[in-house]
Amino acid sequence: MTTATRAAVLVILDGMRRDLITPELTPNICALMVRGTQFAAYRSVFPSATRVVSSCTATGCQPRHHGLRGNSMALLENGQIVPHDAGHPDFLQHRRRVTGHALDRPTMAERLAGRGGSAVFSNVSPGAAYAHDPDGFGFVYHRAGSFGPGRTPLAVGIEDVTPDAEGDARMTKQFLGEAITRDGRNAALAVLWLGEPDASQHCHPLGSPGANAAIAAADTRLGEVMAVVAQRRAGGDNVLLLAGSDHGHQTVTEVIDVNAALAEAGFKSSGETAGDGLLAISNGTGCLVYLSPTRTDGQVICDFLRSQPWCGQLFEGATLAGIGHEASGGLLCALTMRCDMTSNAFGVPGSGASAKPLGAKPDRLGFGQHGGLGPWEQMPFLVAEGAGFMPGAVDTRDASPIDLAPTILRHLGVAADGCDGGCLS
Ligand SMILES: [Zn+2]
Repeated sequence: MTTATRAAVLVILDGMRRDLITPELTPNICALMVRGTQFAAYRSVFPSATRVVSSCTATGCQPRHHGLRGNSMALLENGQIVPHDAGHPDFLQHRRRVTGHALDRPTMAERLAGRGGSAVFSNVSPGAAYAHDPDGFGFVYHRAGSFGPGRTPLAVGIEDVTPDAEGDARMTKQFLGEAITRDGRNAALAVLWLGEPDASQHCHPLGSPGANAAIAAADTRLGEVMAVVAQRRAGGDNVLLLAGSDHGHQTVTEVIDVNAALAEAGFKSSGETAGDGLLAISNGTGCLVYLSPTRTDGQVICDFLRSQPWCGQLFEGATLAGIGHEASGGLLCALTMRCDMTSNAFGVPGSGASAKPLGAKPDRLGFGQHGGLGPWEQMPFLVAEGAGFMPGAVDTRDASPIDLAPTILRHLGVAADGCDGGCLS
């Protein structure tokens, strides 16, 4: 005889734009909106990028407080600006060695250790998966390595899962079998983070058959989770189901090499190195600019960047707080690449420039990207269904990923002190 338990289930359809939700393409999201409350003003964070949103989700805090500033970011190491790909499996372990902490605020996994535990199944980058629980308090499942408490490696046979719709289907099957069925491991918090439709939207135009097929597939995975949650509830469990996305997408129409522009203007000797103590780090349609504390020309550099035709908004000094950042750790400023309302060939609005990544191929023109503060990349969706949420309601409050942890922790009866976000129920 099992006793009724409280549980929270979070499903993320990575990169799903709220305005692309339709009864034809996403019947399960639409069905959930009827049973639960949708958040019509739900926004992403800055950069609107998966690893950053994963950390904000896990901690309920802004990037300036948890410390994972970008999908790619720099650390000040022995006074030097060192660029890092935060998607690398070892990034947060490295950050702990450099700064003393993997993330600077507790994760839900830490708060739930000994209180029902957590299990995260992620089919995005390893760095984003491990950002949910870098210190090993609960279970994390990822193709790059799965871990139990104490970061004990688990052999679960998902090493060959692919970051696409087929891989999402396998991860969902594993998730349903191990994390949320009544006789499974039954963690208090179970997170399923699908790689689609983000992966396909980066290599198919938004609104094209390839991108829409990925949206439909991700919606089907949500439907599978909804069915198992219904079984759990029929068995008497009090399950809060949250379904959403981390950011939207917009169409790339221009790629800018920000470091080359800085070099051309004489602020550094060569584009991609941090040797002069100045480095712009692309986060897709957003960009973080780092400057060595020994240099004194920060204001001139900000003024130069702001005057460029490809620059959207630029945040420096005290204005960084408005987007959840601060001028510390070598961060000089953050900027968004310009964007406009132009529609692509498939009639999907939102286009603009993206910043060329360090040492990697630039985005291909005509495909989706995100990272900035444009209206459509800042249009993820969120639906909450369960106790505390009115069926069919449309909540127009400001809400963002930092509100997920306080909402989940309240449902589970665990304190959410120190979170920047608030409870949505
Ligand atoms: Zn994402």
